[in-house]
Amino acid sequence: MQLTDDIKDKTLRAIAQKVEDGIPVGRDDAVYMLRTNDVLDLAAIAQYIRMRLHGNVTYYGVNMNMNYTNICELRCPLCAFSCDKGDEKAFLLSIDDIEQRVKSAVSSGIDEVHIVGGLNPELDIGYFEKMFTCIKRIKPDIHIVALTAVEYDYIAGKNNLPLEEVFRRLINAGVDALPGGGAEIFAPKIRKIIAPRKISGNRWLDVMRTAHNMGLKTNATMLYNHKEGAEDMADHLAQIRALQDETGGFKTFVPLQFHGKNTAISQRQSTTGYDDIRIYATSRIFLHNVPHLKALWMYIGEKMAQALLKFGVDDIGATYHDEKIVHSAGANTPDYGSEAYLRRLIEEAGLTPVRTTAAYNKIDTGRDHEPGTH
Ligand code: SF4
Repeated sequence: MQLTDDIKDKTLRAIAQKVEDGIPVGRDDAVYMLRTNDVLDLAAIAQYIRMRLHGNVTYYGVNMNMNYTNICELRCPLCAFSCDKGDEKAFLLSIDDIEQRVKSAVSSGIDEVHIVGGLNPELDIGYFEKMFTCIKRIKPDIHIVALTAVEYDYIAGKNNLPLEEVFRRLINAGVDALPGGGAEIFAPKIRKIIAPRKISGNRWLDVMRTAHNMGLKTNATMLYNHKEGAEDMADHLAQIRALQDETGGFKTFVPLQFHGKNTAISQRQSTTGYDDIRIYATSRIFLHNVPHLKALWMYIGEKMAQALLKFGVDDIGATYHDEKIVHSAGANTPDYGSEAYLRRLIEEAGLTPVRTTAAYNKIDTGRDHEPGTH
């Protein structure tokens, strides 16, 4: 049976036909998919692509997140994290602090560290070189996913260095890949409201182009549920796809749901399940050339993340170790946030969990021959 046989809606059937024929779907198609209520048709098309790329395999990670400072010059209206120097919640981690935190996480078995922070004028490139060298000394094969395009652009400007030189030095110090943050939504009229002082969408894409040309793989994100409309999202996806055609450097696309609490942006109503489904499935279908689609379960909730595994998602994000946050999130299961928990979410969707890093190399967990994991 062909994919198109299952699709009732005429426009979605035409989109499915393009997917079967290997023709990239259009921007108008993306807008249509971002508005449709036929989510089961969307699921059929998105899963067709997901299964062709990954079969039943579903990825998760075991990592730590590290924010080295929350002091930031930009103070974007969308941000609940940043503050000014001197603020009572301001912090800046020393290299010794970082060493201790990474040692502790390594002893609990992490494979990867994700590092992002504010644009702090006190930090020069030497701070980041020391940070990455120190982390690699603790565990030479740890995967370092560090600093958004916004941070690389800032480091280049502050240190008066060409971007290529910044990447060269930080690759030498140990960075392996880039997270995809800072993309927000490229549409200038919305960027002006949610992050007016942040680099433009074009500059974000330029920094990523340079990273890709220097051999680094990166993620790309899209922040939704603030001021954007379907056309803005379609435009954002189109720009990611165009750069991917040029460089092939994006590994993973990560839609991020905006949470307005403690920000200067008044939030529209929270998304519905259908909103989230439309955005993830459309991303999977439109970005045919980006291999992975990630639903970060800590952002979107574990139940929705699990459901999205049937709407094109092949990566559910990473384990969570912070007891305080787990507690305040009202966890009532003893394994919440653990590796066993993520494997359970994946297995109960009838899929095969594979532990990995941002490089998508399979990490042996010693579980591969246990009954019930295939
Ligand atoms: S640049 Fe990043 S850390 Fe700084 S205010 Fe904007 S979103 Fe927050």
